[in-house]
Amino acid sequence: MAARRGLFYTRPDVPIDADALHLVLYPDPTLRVRAAPVEGVDDDVRKIFRRMLEVMYEEQGIGLAAPQIGVSRRIFVLHVPPNDDDRTLDSDPPSATDGPMVFINPEITALEEAPEAFEEGCLSLPDIRGDVLRPPIATVKALDAKGNTFTMRCGGLLARCVQHEFDHLEGVLIIDRMTQMSRLRTRLAVRDLERDAGLR
Ligand SMILES: [Zn+2]
Repeated sequence: MAARRGLFYTRPDVPIDADALHLVLYPDPTLRVRAAPVEGVDDDVRKIFRRMLEVMYEEQGIGLAAPQIGVSRRIFVLHVPPNDDDRTLDSDPPSATDGPMVFINPEITALEEAPEAFEEGCLSLPDIRGDVLRPPIATVKALDAKGNTFTMRCGGLLARCVQHEFDHLEGVLIIDRMTQMSRLRTRLAVRDLERDAGLR
């Protein structure tokens, strides 16, 4: 469906119609290119991240990157709520957030400790889950929704989510990072998505 293709929005001079932005699925080409930096937090950028938060909640995700709604800009959002188990606000570093967060032009400035495997999914790869190796602690520096720089060191699911969403801005997907075993197990489902795209 042409309306769901994203590359149209890579040009900063093209006005954003936020209501027209929807989740795009693999193998949409927007998911495979390196996203462009944001020049400043203006009305268009605010429209984009508000729409991203709407889509993230509609789809019951904990994170979403702009390329996933067809916008090739360096923005991601996340909301990793605490649970009764391993996701907490008061651990050091925290592994959850107390609300939605916006990351503009993010940089991962540090990764700590040996990579660990954990099963991940992605809203742009429906029904595909697999083990991805990532360091358990990450530090991210970004602009927030108001354009102020902040730095956050995070662990657990939050650190994983930050790395997953950052990957989207580089055109990298979980299917590129999965363990060999997971890659083999999901191969047919990935092929189905490629075939479905050909039929759309
Ligand atoms: Zn994803």
